[in-house]
Amino acid sequence: MKQFSLNLFSFNVMLPFKIHSPETEVTLPLWEKKHIKVTLKRDDLIHPFISGNKWRKLKYNLQEALQLQKNHIVTFGGAWSNHLLATACAGATFRLKTTAFVRGDEQVNNPVLTMCQLFGMHLIYVDRDSYRGKEKLYSDYFGQDPTAFYVHEGGYGLLGAKGCAELVDELQQDYQHIFTACGTGTTLAGIANAIDKKDLFTQIHGVPVLKNGSFINDEVAQLYPHLAAPILHLDYHFGGYAKTTPELLAFTQHFISSTGIMIEPTYTGKLLYAVDDLIKKDYFTPADQLLVVHTGGLTGLLGMYERFAFH
Ligand SMILES: *Cc1c(COP(=O)(O)O)cnc(C)c1O
Repeated sequence: MKQFSLNLFSFNVMLPFKIHSPETEVTLPLWEKKHIKVTLKRDDLIHPFISGNKWRKLKYNLQEALQLQKNHIVTFGGAWSNHLLATACAGATFRLKTTAFVRGDEQVNNPVLTMCQLFGMHLIYVDRDSYRGKEKLYSDYFGQDPTAFYVHEGGYGLLGAKGCAELVDELQQDYQHIFTACGTGTTLAGIANAIDKKDLFTQIHGVPVLKNGSFINDEVAQLYPHLAAPILHLDYHFGGYAKTTPELLAFTQHFISSTGIMIEPTYTGKLLYAVDDLIKKDYFTPADQLLVVHTGGLTGLLGMYERFAFH
């Protein structure tokens, strides 16, 4: 009997969630001409709402919460946050209560936040100043709630990075280069750490989608101090987070219509624009194999459709 109850408290929580993320070769005429092979890691196919790297970043956070017998996930995000939608859907899937602090005014509403609420997420709108004090918000609202579990904005942190590292274990071949878009740098850090552990020759590249993206190196160093800094391509933010230019929008449309694979301008559009531009500039050696992580997040298009030229 004693044995049994001990086991009950020490069991390892495994979420019943099997993922599908194949490696798909893609090409554009210019990439073919330059003999650069590009493969997409289709994390966008993991789930329509628990999309891409957001599932990977949530996985160990949710397992930790369940292990501590906490069934209320509290997190943070902007009004179009892929992380909030993923958390809301994962919460409904695994029967966890979810609350999000949303940066913005009371009036903010959009299809992503509607979907969050459909999944049962409770939203608390906070102005930009209060939003900066996340720990204070958490303790003010949920300091007394023993079931609450704090998940960082964007799934940032070591638990998130640990989930992202699993992407490397799934790979069917070795690559000279792996590229990912960066918001918090958690995905990049997880991949870089996994490559480092495996002692592979692969170069890790990040494309920050925010202005002044060199902070990503500090974030990676904070998570894994022993790692050599990944290569950051700092000039593909197009003015800042969720900012676009006609060139970016035109490239995004060109890529989608040439490959049949949907991307969006906030993350994967900037990422693939960077890859395309680097290929154009002969950054790579012919016959190099590139892996580009499609981190999903396609619901971001819902806030951007009016920017495209057909409107
Ligand atoms: C959140 C997100 C990212 C950023 O990932 P980080 O681990 O925060 O750097 C990249 N791509 C998409 C589609 C995202 O939703």
